[in-house]
Amino acid sequence: MGACCVYPDEYKPRQPKSTPLFRLLDTHYEEFRNVYDERFSKRYGFWRPVVDEVVTKYRQCGDFHYGFARIRCKECGAEYRRAFSCKCRGFCPSCSKRKSLDLAIFLEEELFRPVPHRHWVWSVPKMLRLHFLHHRKLLPMLCRCAWHALTIFLHEALDRMNVFPGGILVPQTFGGMANWNPHVHALITDACCDRNGNIFPFPETGSADVHGIEKLFAGLVFKMLLEEGMISEELVENMNSWKHSGFSVHRGSSIKAEDEDSRKTLSEYISRAPFSLERMSFNEDSKNVVYRGEHFHPTLARNFDVSEPLEWIARITSHIPKKGTIYYGAYSQAWRGRERRQGILPTKPTELETDTSEEVRSSYSRRRRQEWAVLLKKVWDVDALKCPKCGGQMKVVSFIEQPSVIRRILKHLDLWEDPRPPPIPLEMVCEPDADYIPWQDDVPEIEVG
Ligand SMILES: [Zn+2]
Ligand SMILES: [Zn+2]
Repeated sequence: MGACCVYPDEYKPRQPKSTPLFRLLDTHYEEFRNVYDERFSKRYGFWRPVVDEVVTKYRQCGDFHYGFARIRCKECGAEYRRAFSCKCRGFCPSCSKRKSLDLAIFLEEELFRPVPHRHWVWSVPKMLRLHFLHHRKLLPMLCRCAWHALTIFLHEALDRMNVFPGGILVPQTFGGMANWNPHVHALITDACCDRNGNIFPFPETGSADVHGIEKLFAGLVFKMLLEEGMISEELVENMNSWKHSGFSVHRGSSIKAEDEDSRKTLSEYISRAPFSLERMSFNEDSKNVVYRGEHFHPTLARNFDVSEPLEWIARITSHIPKKGTIYYGAYSQAWRGRERRQGILPTKPTELETDTSEEVRSSYSRRRRQEWAVLLKKVWDVDALKCPKCGGQMKVVSFIEQPSVIRRILKHLDLWEDPRPPPIPLEMVCEPDADYIPWQDDVPEIEVG
């Protein structure tokens, strides 16, 4: 028996082990760990335990030996299995993609207000970037500087103190070649509101104003780095005398309130993975990793980069994030909680679930179930809930997690690989996708109505 017995023909599983990233880590990760302190800690900072955790989870992602869900067609009884995924953002290419998509759906369904939005980017000069590599706590602080610079400008321009836009800010650490380049991406409402729910249009903002925000941002970043003892007053003075400060603020064009597609594209863009699997290749014989950038790289004077394996692992693992999206102003949790209490915002979905109204509840949970299917379809490229044999409804019938059961089933299907690793034993989260239905503790079965 072979894999065809596990999947109906159309259900080709993704092959995580065949990707260049998997092969690279499989052959070089242990060596990388052993030489890290000696070879890389000076340039990339102290070893971070989160790297081991994420890489180990990634190496188990999509591998049936670490558990799977059984999915069955209610009409014809056809059955297939789907391996658990690692859910690691910022490293595992397929899970990162799913997380971005999930964020885009969450923002669209539950957060965005019906007002125009705008994409903003704040970046820092080359000379200061390494501080953020060696001191990760500075990354969320960089977001705060960006937010403060914007709100100081707004309060002055509107001549009001207690009005705020809604902001979703993401600290990003990578440039086009997966090089270290800390900056802040944001989606900001192109309107402000006060605590009573009154809306104020965003003030007219020209390029001189954006330059002013840039200056405010530079000042706040310098202040932060001085307070943290990272830089000296002399350096600040010196950098302030430069013609081009190296700080930059980019303000994108306004996205109309009804333009859901552009908003979704941007939501996915600001939370995207640091590197793309499609652009990476690994040659085991010549021991080279080639990464093709999206654009021409001015410093390298070409649009691709060649690294030796350990160097490339150091580079991509440096982007494994600790903190993700941060919500500010009218999009902050505190603000939204207060608005709900005041009855300005509709009750949040988790509260709908405890609502006695059956109609409200079932329509909401049906929508989430459909989204679950959409997510699967988009990311795994299969319509997981539609039977490929008869087109009938499929449902998850169980999750197989116990090592002895996994072993028995895989042996029976002739899919067991002996001896099994595991790299570092880790508790596998019960998946797939339990957390796309946030209020359900366990997912007994999922059907599409
Ligand atoms: Zn069927
Ligand atoms: Zn994964």
